[in-house]
This record gives sequence, C-alpha cells and structure tokens, in this order.
Amino acid sequence: RAKGQIGENVCFYEPSMDESARARRKLASDLRQAIERNELELLYQPQCFIEGGKLSGYEALLRWHHPTRGLVSPVEFIPIAEEAGLILPIGEWVLRQACLEARRWDNDLRIAVNLSGIQLVQPDIAQTVTRVLLETGLTPRRLELEITETSIISDKARALHNLRQIKALGVAIAMDDFGTGYSSLDTLQSFPFDKIKIDKSFLLQSDSNAQAQAIIRAVLGLGQSLQIPVLAEGVETAGHLDLLVSEGCHEAQGYFLGRPGHAPSRLLAESSLSTGESPHGPLITA
Ligand code: C2E
Ligand code: MG
Ligand code: MG
Ligand code: MG
Repeated sequence: RAKGQIGENVCFYEPSMDESARARRKLASDLRQAIERNELELLYQPQCFIEGGKLSGYEALLRWHHPTRGLVSPVEFIPIAEEAGLILPIGEWVLRQACLEARRWDNDLRIAVNLSGIQLVQPDIAQTVTRVLLETGLTPRRLELEITETSIISDKARALHNLRQIKALGVAIAMDDFGTGYSSLDTLQSFPFDKIKIDKSFLLQSDSNAQAQAIIRAVLGLGQSLQIPVLAEGVETAGHLDLLVSEGCHEAQGYFLGRPGHAPSRLLAESSLSTGESPHGPLITA
C-alpha cells in the first residue's frame, strides 16, 4: 500500500522536507558513534594581537569526518547534536581535547573553546569545566569560553549564574558573533565578558559597504567605553587588517592571518622530527 493513501494515519508534507528530516535523523544516529569511532577532530585557528602582531591564542574548531559523506561542517552538525541530546558528550570531548592540546605547548597562549547554549545552562557546567581543567592540568587562565548571545536567551538567569561561577575559576569569557542574533546592549552590560568578538560578516562586507564599517567602529567604541577588548573575526585581506589597525581594534582572526589547521603541537612535533628532538616531552593522553 502506498504511503499517504487516504485513511492511513500519515502527515502530508513536502517530500523534500521528509527527505531532509530523514537525512538529519541519519546524521544524528551517525553522530552518536562519532566520538568512539574517532571521527571528530579539532582544528586550531590563530588569534593575533593587532599591535605588535604577536599570536595571542588559538580557537578550537570542531570537524567531523563522516565515513561516507566526508567532512561535515559544524554549522550543519552542531544544531543536530543539540537537538539529538549529543552536545553534552561532544562538548565535553571538545573541551578536554582543547585543554590537552594547549597543555602540550611550550608557551602560555590561550585556547578558546566554543560552548553551546545547552552546555551553558547545565546546572553542573562549572563543575564540568573544573573537572576537565584538573584532569588535563591546564591553568584556568589559559582557557577562554566563547558563547553567543543567542545561546544566552533561553535562560538568561541560569546562564549568568553559571558564567559567574566559571569566571570565578579564572576562565575568560568571550562574546562570540557580536552584532548578529539578539544583539542587546543589556547583555553586554550585565554579563561579565572579557572579550567581544565582532561577527565576521561585518568585516567581510566592509569593502563595499560603508555601513558595515560604521558598525565595526561603533562596536570598537562600545568596547572602549565598557573597557572590554574587541577581536574582529573574518580578516581575509591586508585591507581588512589596515582598517582594524586604523580603528584601534585589539585582536584579529581570519584567513589572512591563518586558517584553522592541525594542532600546533603536532606541527611542532613534525618539524622537530628532522632534528630528532622533541621539545614537548611525553604526550599527555586522556
Ligand atoms: P565561530 O565560533 O564564530 O567560528 C568562526 C568560524 O569562522 C569558523 O568556521 C572559522 O573557520 C570561520 N572563519 C575564520 N576565519 C575566517 C575568514 O577569514 N573568513 C571566513 N569566511 N570564515 C572564517 P567553522 O569552523 O566552520 O565553525 C562554524 C561555527 O560552528 C563556529 O562559529 C561555531 O559557532 C560552531 N562551532 C565550531 N566548533 C564548535 C565546537 O566545538 N562547539 C560548538 N558548540 N560550536 C562549534
Ligand atoms: Mg567561536
Ligand atoms: Mg564567531
Ligand atoms: Mg559563528
């Protein structure tokens, strides 16, 4: 009997919707096994101080190597993980891997980790962060958690409470993708942010769009008034960097400065193979 025949208890929707819903369910069930099957990987993108041009840290960015689909973007699978109740184990895996990685560096650069709004409102998120820091041995002040405004709105009071606890550990908090979503100045005022990250869309539009430039200036002014350092995402050209220099932005991140890449410690280890020296000592394992 054909599906959708009169009398049969089915919903009527577009076949394309049906297909994409099925594809999401399939991805969710594949994602369930991604950690055990070693399909997840973190890439690291450099962040730089604009004055002096020195490296300030790295942002950890999650990648999923799907066995048949190949590389799946976090833009696609993070929402699926959130919906399927998988973001907590995945998020904790990310946190632990990133801390382990930073622990291997022979410098004290910061590692920035993206936190989902679902993680942020867990009653025990501060304990989870504490536990991972203790287990990996990373100094709390080397960790920065990036959260978006959108992730705060589901439960603002709980988010604020948790952020205060996390900050009390010495961990820094960055507001990610500022200027998109629910940009409210009230959030900036009432949340204890250590950094504002201007969403990349503004710099990417700034070449042709004077309004985008004006918004960048306004956010920099806001940061200055509130005494919160500002990082601009999406620096793709020398021109973008020039703009940030002339406007007095503190930090920058983007393809012009470095794409997300393999773990800095792995690159160092590979480059030291020729000399036979290991500058990092024994590798730490989870
Ligand atoms: P995000 O946290 O805002 O990360 C910045 C994104 O911009 C990254 O995309 C990065 O590769 C990209 N990007 C960096 N520089 C440039 C540039 O110059 N030009 C352009 N066009 N893009 C640039 P990616 O890695 O695809 O990640 C997308 C989003 O997925 C992230 O946005 C973040 O919201 C989310 N995400 C990634 N990893 C994680 C994770 O471990 N946990 C959670 N909860 N979310 C994650
Ligand atoms: Mg981020
Ligand atoms: Mg961002
Ligand atoms: Mg983003």
